[in-house]
Amino acid sequence: MILSLPRRIAALMVRGAMDFVYPVRCVLCGTLGMPVACPACESLFSLMPARVCRACGVSIDGAPELMQRERACARCILQTPYHFSWARARGSYEGVLREAIHSLKYDHCRPMGAVLGRWLRHGPGATIDPPRQPDIVLPVPLHPRRLLERGFNQSLLLARAYVGETEWPLRTDILRRKRCTRPQALLTAEQRAVNVRGAFAVRQPEAIAGKRLLLIDDVVTTMHTVDECARVLKEAGAAEVYVLAVAR
Ligand SMILES: [Zn+2]
Ligand SMILES: [Zn+2]
Repeated sequence: MILSLPRRIAALMVRGAMDFVYPVRCVLCGTLGMPVACPACESLFSLMPARVCRACGVSIDGAPELMQRERACARCILQTPYHFSWARARGSYEGVLREAIHSLKYDHCRPMGAVLGRWLRHGPGATIDPPRQPDIVLPVPLHPRRLLERGFNQSLLLARAYVGETEWPLRTDILRRKRCTRPQALLTAEQRAVNVRGAFAVRQPEAIAGKRLLLIDDVVTTMHTVDECARVLKEAGAAEVYVLAVAR
């Protein structure tokens, strides 16, 4: 449709006003009239490589033959198993996906939580449903102090969107963070393990006794946080703990 100049100016003014009141634009590329992540940007979210450790989900692309044959990483072959029995991330923490996660966590773009949570469940590539249907889904909790600072728990937004189309119950009243830890991103691998030790506690252990649990997190790196969550959940009686993250 070709508009006359005054009408074009009027249209631009309306759009500007709308944009001011309710900005509808892709926060990743700035295109107006788009959801917070436009289809073009969402198509650029990078996926994890296809070959990953069957236990912890780390990439074993290009790893030695033994690891390829076992379909397991060196950590899972050589060391004591993690407390969770299965972990996967859909995305690789880089590029546009990294920007999307940052917009959620640091720019507080809450609608991005729904975008990423849906992408975690329905994104391209192979399905990454847990090995068995979980009885309860739990977001990795924030400490109340950090929750106050941010105003929301990004993992809860992800988990809500993730379970949106399933009947899986989502519970936020079971796992709590009792110690306000330093952000893992600022620490070395060794410091990260110490940082999260004893940071979590389980309320209502009777609710998870014998149950299969699915933990949802935004980004996993060294797995210390989710492993510590899994440790206390197993100790409290959970049968199995699975982990799903948007990116790794
Ligand atoms: Zn975009
Ligand atoms: Zn592994």
